[in-house]
Amino acid sequence: MLTLQGKGASGGVVVGRARLLRHEEIKVKRDTATDPTAEWGRYEAARARTVEELERLYDQSYREIGAEQAEIFSVHAMMAEDEDFNEAVQRGIVEQQYRAEYALMRAKEQFEALFSGMEDEYMRERAGDVRDVAARILGHLKGKVERKSNETEETYILCAEDLTPSQTVNLDRRAVLAFVTAKGSTNSHSAILARSMNLPAVVDVGEELLTSVVDGAMLAVDGERGLIYVDPDDAILQEWDERMQRAQARGEQLFQYRDRESRTPDGQRVEICANVGSMGEVQEAVRVGADGIGLFRSEFLYLGRQDYPDEEEQLRAYRQALISMPGKRVIIRTLDIGADKQAAYFGLAREENPALGLRACRVSLARPEVFLTQARALLRASASGRLAVMFPLITSTREVEQLLGLWNRAKRELDAAGEAYAQDIEIGIMIETPAAAIISDRLAPLVDFFSIGTNDLTQYTLAMDRQNAALAEACQGQHESVMRLIRYTVESARRAGIWVGICGELGADLTLTESFLRMGVAELSVSPGAVLPVRERVCTLPSLGAGDKKERWGEMEEDAHELVEKR
Ligand code: PEP
Ligand code: MG
Repeated sequence: MLTLQGKGASGGVVVGRARLLRHEEIKVKRDTATDPTAEWGRYEAARARTVEELERLYDQSYREIGAEQAEIFSVHAMMAEDEDFNEAVQRGIVEQQYRAEYALMRAKEQFEALFSGMEDEYMRERAGDVRDVAARILGHLKGKVERKSNETEETYILCAEDLTPSQTVNLDRRAVLAFVTAKGSTNSHSAILARSMNLPAVVDVGEELLTSVVDGAMLAVDGERGLIYVDPDDAILQEWDERMQRAQARGEQLFQYRDRESRTPDGQRVEICANVGSMGEVQEAVRVGADGIGLFRSEFLYLGRQDYPDEEEQLRAYRQALISMPGKRVIIRTLDIGADKQAAYFGLAREENPALGLRACRVSLARPEVFLTQARALLRASASGRLAVMFPLITSTREVEQLLGLWNRAKRELDAAGEAYAQDIEIGIMIETPAAAIISDRLAPLVDFFSIGTNDLTQYTLAMDRQNAALAEACQGQHESVMRLIRYTVESARRAGIWVGICGELGADLTLTESFLRMGVAELSVSPGAVLPVRERVCTLPSLGAGDKKERWGEMEEDAHELVEKR
């Protein structure tokens, strides 16, 4: 038994078999074909079955998980039908007289090398898709019995060097029990996504992960403590079994809060909403009874693809989210691309400091046509529910005014086209830079609400890269400087008569729930897996007491100070 120590990125304990993302080479013997025509026929039949299988998987994923996750199967189906690829296989069979399996592997290697050598990151990633598609066709050539509608029977723990946000969001959630990466940070978007997806995850394990874990090895993973046992002994297996049972019992206990109102024993109401990045997570938010969606990360519609999602595709996604949450507020954040969330087709220039560069609302302002397409899709979707929209990474009143100007232009465009939209869409901004927090008194009169993004607010206040594993321990939102900015922002909102929520990870810190409520925070938006623990905390808080506001602010500051001292 080997013990590996990484950082706990998303809680939960699981036992399962490892599957390495580094695809193993499929060994196929170099055989010659005695009858090339028959051999080509075999290949064509296997390829057709692959396309059918992929189309079925697309339909199933579209229905059960959502359009974005389904997209990968449509891309794979297109690859299986790619003329150049199939011609390469045909040449191998007809000209070189190889058996179909070997001709397929030769074509796969050729295309894999072609994609791997490309400059564009998106295109380089396609090398992995070529491997996947070739492996599927090979399976059919070898007479694989098709796994009915169910890729899910085989569950595994995914081990990889690192995962990009788009890879994470595209994980098959029914099959992946947990993921473990050699690199990565607990504050990265992949880690945040894992928490949103309720998927145990350990990051920053080091290269040893990839050198000591083989495909199929048994792993016991503790996503809380960042611990992995490779080939665990019986004692560990028993311990894990007990812990999994306890976790299940705790889950059932928490589930009693699913339909409870989020209200403290002395009557203070707070909305406990969910942060989501895909339809799968919207469904998870519904399952746990979230009071709404406090942050829909719309940029995930733009990631892991070759071109912009058009207005209709966006409209479908936003509508689907709104329809899933009848009567509840769904806050969709406009595009937050840039920094660690890159889409090559935007053609953004390489930057020295991408976290301080052209990202989020800065991209929307630099590319008004992209923003306007999104704005029209949002406006058109608004008839399907209670939509609110917020703009990310604000630093000035001018940005807000410009974005509102574009928003109004999108409305005029729809008016001219005779398209309807709701008249009462709330517009908010994210407070995730020290600049925005410091001028929150000036920003508040411009909008209907604030949502404090403590992940970026912490990164920019402390000048610590949230992606840097070496800083993860120090990069904490409980730092007094961040807490003071939060307090000031809430105070500015209160003075202007607008409501304020927290949608960064700090919102799920149960040691701060009471402080946030005392401040007057109206909404806490957390990953779906944290909705019920936060609601339980709210419903069981000791009396917040009356006392005049001033006294309560003071207490709050002390709370924060004490916490920072303790950590
Ligand atoms: C934040 O910065 O706190 C936030 C919620 O946005 P993201 O994590 O997507 O940057
Ligand atoms: Mg942010």
